[in-house]
Amino acid sequence: MAEPITTGEAARMLGLASPAAARRQLSRWGIRPLHRQAGKGGESMWDPDILQAAIDNRAGRGARTDLAKETTMTTTTELEARYVELISPETRAAVQSVVEHTIDAEYGRQDPDGLNGAHILAAAGISMDWHRLWVDVNGDNRHLPSAAVAQLRIMVTAGLEARRCACTADIAPSGHRHVDYQCTGHTEHDVPAVYGLLFCGSCYPVYADAAGIPQ
Ligand SMILES: [Zn+2]
Ligand SMILES: [Zn+2]
Repeated sequence: MAEPITTGEAARMLGLASPAAARRQLSRWGIRPLHRQAGKGGESMWDPDILQAAIDNRAGRGARTDLAKETTMTTTTELEARYVELISPETRAAVQSVVEHTIDAEYGRQDPDGLNGAHILAAAGISMDWHRLWVDVNGDNRHLPSAAVAQLRIMVTAGLEARRCACTADIAPSGHRHVDYQCTGHTEHDVPAVYGLLFCGSCYPVYADAAGIPQ
């Protein structure tokens, strides 16, 4: 018998993206590990001859559609793109609600319960949208909630960036200054555009005044 191989080696042999994907594929084929390595974090060990036989058998039967699907997710960026695509319009709306609540809080319209609730809804939405693919790739959903929260943070940051006040030192009317090159405030949704640009509550009056917009 050939030397037993680890799940990682089995994944490479099968052309799969991760040990978890290999574990699932092997379990689907009814192949069990020979034994588990001793000690904490000991890996399952597999018989490469049995794997090779299964691979040959699969090739002969042409039953490789599910495997082909998995081998397409070999790069992280492809996988990341798939995760982003899976985020539903409802979840995106929930994320936007977190952005609105965050901006509201900046303007002193504090609603901690609303912000918390929006956070929970949005993170749960991402978890639900991702659940199937996540379990497919990772074998279980243990790390899904923290991944969903991390994704939510990325989306909220992007959402806030999109709402950044347009005021910069370049376009500021004379006499209006910022310590920073660009204003770090966010636009309020009820402030209309001036010259097609959106400004924060404190910059808006200055630009509206310069544009002759009555306030
Ligand atoms: Zn501003
Ligand atoms: Zn300004």
